[in-house]
Amino acid sequence: MKTPEVLDKEARDVLSSLPEVLTAKDRASIPHQEMPQQRPEERIHNMSEVALGYTESEALVEANRCLQCRNKPCVSGCPVGIDIPRFIKSITEKDYSGALDVIQESSLLPAICGRVCPQESQCQKYCTVGKMHKDIDQAVAIGRLERFVADHEKDSAKLPEIAPQTGKKVAVVGSGPASMACAADVRRMGHSVTVFEALHKMGGVLSYGIPEFRLPKQLVEKELSKLEAMGIEFQRNVLIGRTRTIKELMEEDGYDAVFIGTGAGLPKFMNIPGENLISVFSANEYLTRSNLMKAYDTENSLTPYFHSHRVAVFGGGNVAMDAARTALRLGAETVDIVYRRTRDEMPARKEEIEHAIEEGCNLRTLSQPVEILGDENGIVRGVVIRRCELGAPDASGRRSPVEIPGSDHTVEYDTVIVAIGNASNPLIKKTTPEIETNKRGNFIVDEETNETSLKGVFAGGDIVLGAATVILAMGQGRKAAAAINAYLKEQA
Ligand code: FAD
Ligand code: SF4
Ligand code: SF4
Repeated sequence: MKTPEVLDKEARDVLSSLPEVLTAKDRASIPHQEMPQQRPEERIHNMSEVALGYTESEALVEANRCLQCRNKPCVSGCPVGIDIPRFIKSITEKDYSGALDVIQESSLLPAICGRVCPQESQCQKYCTVGKMHKDIDQAVAIGRLERFVADHEKDSAKLPEIAPQTGKKVAVVGSGPASMACAADVRRMGHSVTVFEALHKMGGVLSYGIPEFRLPKQLVEKELSKLEAMGIEFQRNVLIGRTRTIKELMEEDGYDAVFIGTGAGLPKFMNIPGENLISVFSANEYLTRSNLMKAYDTENSLTPYFHSHRVAVFGGGNVAMDAARTALRLGAETVDIVYRRTRDEMPARKEEIEHAIEEGCNLRTLSQPVEILGDENGIVRGVVIRRCELGAPDASGRRSPVEIPGSDHTVEYDTVIVAIGNASNPLIKKTTPEIETNKRGNFIVDEETNETSLKGVFAGGDIVLGAATVILAMGQGRKAAAAINAYLKEQA
């Protein structure tokens, strides 16, 4: 792995050798810029961000790889339609605040999305440069450039203009990216906005789920403080459905419209024997203890965590990678990611899998946990694992795991983290039966407006889409906000 200094020097050399006028051929031959990173042996001992971000030279070199395609195929891969070639062109002109303006026409959270968007399956998937090289890793690094712009301009971002007060009140339930985007856009139109969050900290998964080493919490706090500065009121520790119901908000508390962005925070379990043993955690609990409750900061935080030696993480998605890498940082000696298919079928981002392996996590693939074993104190002592092989593709197109009879074997672990997915919490549905849901418990909404079956109540993000992505949640929040603004205008 090249050091950040070497990467920057190489970029400066490339930059000084570029001709003044670049042809498409020149651009296509500019080398793709690697992301400088903390070394794996160092980073497993700290919670600081792994990816360090491009320097200005690296960003300029990478931006010059963009061919400025007229048909902009990359834009169709961005769920919020950022004008990618236009912001990249501004980078090549060193007009970074102009680049940020272009991004902010469509996205409110560039520093966050530039870090956590699964770009390889979104904008970068369609990039002409990646296609020319027949290698998606060679696509223009759109996400990294977006992050560069947001970080470079972090102190100059202005608050949006807010229209005069309309006298209308909007309640936003939950404070994840869907709610943050919705709250900002509704407030801009001059409506009063109150965000109700069940936890003591705002930000949803951005605060409690995605680890500090992928998304520094100060970035999330900065975005939240902008919302507060816009006059949005935050009410923490309020569980809507218990503390107040949706109907009470509308009929007794005077809210004219409600947006529900409660996410998909209900962990799924395997339903195998032993899941109630001590030291079996859902990934949500494990990550919340570390991220939100700062368990890793042993000097300043009172949150306890289980001191593990041998950890098994069940699952192959991003949440499993986050839990596994967090376990290493909390001092585990070995961490196995136990997954029933092969590495090729893992839903986690390629980069996250590579980072987990670089840091020392083991992939125990084609392995299905069938029982968790406990010792005389009820603490995990091992997991019975059944070998699998790949069968025919299932509905998702991925080859299905087929268990191999007689292949059960026990592996010693003292901790199990279950990271096999999340569902939506049924509380609001139970207390507001007028809101229609599908069989998975997700809210059914009008595709154009994100309005639910209850008039004046809108929803977006994971509560509608199932466990999805930050940018999709943000896009839904913005769509719902536009519809709420139109709805309130009609009511005026
Ligand atoms: P959430 O972010 O889930 O926020 C919902 C909020 O609502 C929570 O704060 C919750 O406490 C609150 N709430 C719930 N019920 C109530 C109630 N009744 N009353 C009041 N408040 C309530 N996506 C990516 O794009 N890239 C990634 O790298 C990525 N990594 C992830 C890692 C982890 C560990 C997890 C769990 C998810 C990850 N995701 C990632 C998915 C992404 O974070 C979600 O798709 C996104 O946060 C959904 O946003 P949301 O606003 O719908 O809900
Ligand atoms: Fe790509 Fe995400 Fe940025 Fe859109 S928001 S351009 S998908 S990194
Ligand atoms: Fe640039 Fe790639 Fe988009 Fe073309 S597809 S405009 S090369 S980022």
